[in-house]
This record gives sequence, C-alpha cells and structure tokens, in this order.
Amino acid sequence: MELKEYWSDSHHSSDFKLTRIGFVAIRFRWLVTLLIIGIAGWIAVDWWVLDPAHFKLIWKIRLITGAMLTPLLPLSYLCKLNRRWMVASLYFLVGVLLAFNLVGLWSFRDGAPIPIGYIAFPYFLLALLSVLPLPVKSGLRVAAVITLCVLATDYWLDSRSLDNGALLDRLWLLICFSLAMIWVQAGQLRMLLDLYRESTRDPLTRLMNRRLFMRQLAHQRDEGGRRPYTLILFDLDRFKRINDEHGHLMGDEVLVRVATTLGDIFGPEAIMSRYGGEEFMVLLPDTTLEQGLRQAETLRLAVESQPVENPLGEGEITVTLSAGVVEGRHDSDLQSLLNRADEALYDAKCSGRNCVQAAA
Ligand code: GH3
Ligand code: MG
Ligand code: MG
Repeated sequence: MELKEYWSDSHHSSDFKLTRIGFVAIRFRWLVTLLIIGIAGWIAVDWWVLDPAHFKLIWKIRLITGAMLTPLLPLSYLCKLNRRWMVASLYFLVGVLLAFNLVGLWSFRDGAPIPIGYIAFPYFLLALLSVLPLPVKSGLRVAAVITLCVLATDYWLDSRSLDNGALLDRLWLLICFSLAMIWVQAGQLRMLLDLYRESTRDPLTRLMNRRLFMRQLAHQRDEGGRRPYTLILFDLDRFKRINDEHGHLMGDEVLVRVATTLGDIFGPEAIMSRYGGEEFMVLLPDTTLEQGLRQAETLRLAVESQPVENPLGEGEITVTLSAGVVEGRHDSDLQSLLNRADEALYDAKCSGRNCVQAAA
C-alpha cells in the first residue's frame, strides 16, 4: 500500500471507494445506534449523581440529542451509495455531539462539580470515531473540528483556564487522542484495502479477477453514456499441452507473460482481467468493433512473437491465442454480450486457432 493511499481517497479506485463507503456506512450505523442508546441510557447515571434540579434539565438535553441522531439511522442506508451523503452525515453526527458537549458543560456553569463522564466526552467521541476506516486527511479534518470546538467551548465557559494552563493541557490531550484515532483509522483502511485487493485480484497475474471485472463491465454499461465499448475475450491455444509437456511452472510463467503483454499493449483506460484458467477478458471503453478487432489482432501478434522462456532454463516456447470480439452499447444485456463473445471465441477455435473473430 502506497503512502498516498493512506492520505486521501482520491488515490483509490472508484470501485474501492464504493466498497469503503459501504463499509463505513455499516460501522456508522452501529456507532449511531450505540450513541443513541448510550446518551439516553446515561440518564440513569445522571439521576443517581446529579441534584434533582440539574437532572430535570439534563435528561431533556439527552433525549433531544438522541432524537436528533435518530434520522441518521435510515440515512446511513443512502450513505452507502454516495460519498457526499456519508461526509455530511458524519459532520452532522459530530456537530450534534459537540453541541451536546457544549450544552452539557454549560449546565454546570453554577460551579457544581462536573462528573467525569462530561469531562471525558470529547475524548470518548474521538475514540469511538476510530472505528471508521478513514484516510488520514479526512481523520485530520474531523480531529481538527472536534479539537477547535472543544477548546472554544472551554474558553467560552471558563476563560480562566487560559491563565492556569488548563486549556493547553486539554489541547495536548486532544492531540494525543486525535493521533491515536487517525492511527487506528489508517490501520483499518489498510486492512480493508488489503482484503479488497485479495478478493478482487488474481494472485498469479495480479490482473482483476472475474468478480471485479463484471462489476466494472456493469459500471461501463450504466455510466459510460451512449458511446460504444468493446469486449475482447481470448483463450490460450492448446494450453493443456503446455502444462503436460513443460510442466505447470511453465504454464504459470506463460500466464504471467501474457498478462504483462496485455499491460504493454493496452492503455490505462483498458480494463483487463483474468476471466478464468487461461481465459482473459479486456474491456475497451469508447471503442468500436473495428477498433477492438484491430487491437485484438495487435495483441495476438504480440503474444505470438514473444516466445516464453522456461523458468527452469529448458528452452522457450511460442504461445498463441484465439479471441472473440464483441461491441456493447448502453442498453446491452450483459449476459447475452458475454455469450456472443464466447461464441465468437468458439468460432476462432474452430477456424484453426491463433486468430480473431468478430461476434455475429
Ligand atoms: P484450447 O486450444 O481448445 O483452448 O485447448 P486448451 O488445452 O487450452 O484448453 P483446455 O480447457 O483443455 O485446458 C485448459 C488448461 O488450463 C487446463 C488447466 O489445467 C490449465 N490451467 C488453468 N488454470 C491454470 C493455472 O493457473 N496454471 C496452470 N499452469 N494451468 C492452468
Ligand atoms: Mg485454451
Ligand atoms: Mg479455456
């Protein structure tokens, strides 16, 4: 994982962004649920420790806070589809809790001793937010908002703290908790990204696996506008024979080399996957059938012209492929598109292999 991936989600793929937001939304929902229960449930503690006049005020504040958080529960189902909603919900949550902190502390302005639960609330909030897998930039923003608001609250309620160093003391503690929060969040982000890569990449060639490819294909059809796109489905010829005659190690080497050639031939906008055993699929956005056929032919020639060396040093072999090419539209049925690509590939095999066929 690169450092910039820890820093901001602008360096994440669009598919991972959606996956992460879905994950954040689930944790967010649990967090809100626990906070509603905790804030309302704490009324019992207040009843025990506060004098009746103070309690009369604070239980209402707690219920109002719980009620304000409740709409976030249904909203969190929408959030998993939209990053902006997620960010807005997170800041709404933080805003309501900071307001609760402010009003809670304000209710002790007559000099009554402040219970530890109220003093520790902002630190508790920072600790709870560490369950969200946020990039460092987002974590820093949230921490800065909480720190500034808590210090402003303190300053407003008790300006004497500026003189006796209590404000500095608080600042120091808030920074420590913020750093711990950001550290745990980044750790979770790393774990999520690692798991995502494990579940969406082929371990041998590091190309996308079929699961992620199908999501990308659906995305291209739904979001790619009216422009055509092309699929190239290709299969290595007589691959079983390569395994049988030269061993599995050689077979694996061939697969890795073909994946490398794919990367060399196609640009960054092409979406390449290992579709199954020795079958690969390439999605070329904004490409017509004629352009796709030309690119498939370029790939076929490149693979054929680059013999693969045996990793055990036992000579080299020539590898060929057969390909089926199909053009898709925004209204294409994906299953029938894949079937047509498969039929074209079958035609290529029947035509003697080492060739490219367009789908009917
Ligand atoms: P055709 O030209 O008709 O495609 O013949 P083929 O031999 O390529 O096709 P077949 O489907 O009979 O064989 C595919 C072989 O690919 C069988 C399987 O053992 C091998 N294979 C699948 N995955 C891997 C892999 O990850 N590594 C290696 N070494 N072999 C694999
Ligand atoms: Mg084959
Ligand atoms: Mg095959």
